[in-house]
Amino acid sequence: MRIFDPHIHMTSRTTDDYAAMAAHGVQALVEPAFWLGQPRTSVGSFVDYFDALIGWEPFRASQFGIRHHCTIALNPKEANDPRCREVLGVLPRYLAKDGVVAVGEVGYDSMTPEEDEVFAAQLELAKRFELPVLVHTPHRDKAAGTTRTLDVVRESGVPAERVVVDHLNEVTVKEVADSGCWMGFSIYPDTKMDPDRMVVILRQFGTERVLVNSAADWGKSDPLRTYATGRAMLAAGFTEDDVDQVLWRNPVAFYGQSGRLDLSDARTGDTFAGNSILRGARS
Ligand SMILES: [Zn+2]
Repeated sequence: MRIFDPHIHMTSRTTDDYAAMAAHGVQALVEPAFWLGQPRTSVGSFVDYFDALIGWEPFRASQFGIRHHCTIALNPKEANDPRCREVLGVLPRYLAKDGVVAVGEVGYDSMTPEEDEVFAAQLELAKRFELPVLVHTPHRDKAAGTTRTLDVVRESGVPAERVVVDHLNEVTVKEVADSGCWMGFSIYPDTKMDPDRMVVILRQFGTERVLVNSAADWGKSDPLRTYATGRAMLAAGFTEDDVDQVLWRNPVAFYGQSGRLDLSDARTGDTFAGNSILRGARS
């Protein structure tokens, strides 16, 4: 099983996690810029964090043969802190860099006017840099947050096929499926989606336009939930090819739209799994 985790926060994880992921087939991942738990008080903290996402963390991943990419944005929660707003001014510098394969995580946390403004500004940046967008949906009030998210995406003019709406569940999946956006699912150890619930959704909605991630971070989470979902799919009668589509080809297709996905072997520089640098691939 080859796995591309399209949403995982490796900054918060250990080398044991990297080793276990590599042993279970994780060959590539995307680390979205997000909230670190401790509120940041100045733009400098973001700059250092973004630099780590394009420098230090890819180096750490490469020690385990894993290709690391990231997404860059001002996250929804800190969009509400006036001390963090200045970050919007440094984003263009990062969105131009190799290894940055989308704008994200953007979207809503508490659905405030400040979040509206920052979300819209970052959708504009996605258009300007022709990048896909990773949209977080709120954990509270998820249904209303998802509806509003899709409205804002529609108004922005960013094409639906360039947007993944993440952290979906049984309640919110239908609306996103109908919108033409990609459907993201975060599989957690004991809250939100689990592998068996994911399998039920895949039966109902199919394997197209679906991204499954572990969203592992500093909270209780498990970087092997992608692998567990692949096992659950096989146990439920999905084929190896179905699993490969969901856990590898779909994330490659989605983030490949950036033209910046580098899937050459992290250790040798050779191509692996039939993919090299997908530069200019925008299917
Ligand atoms: Zn996240």
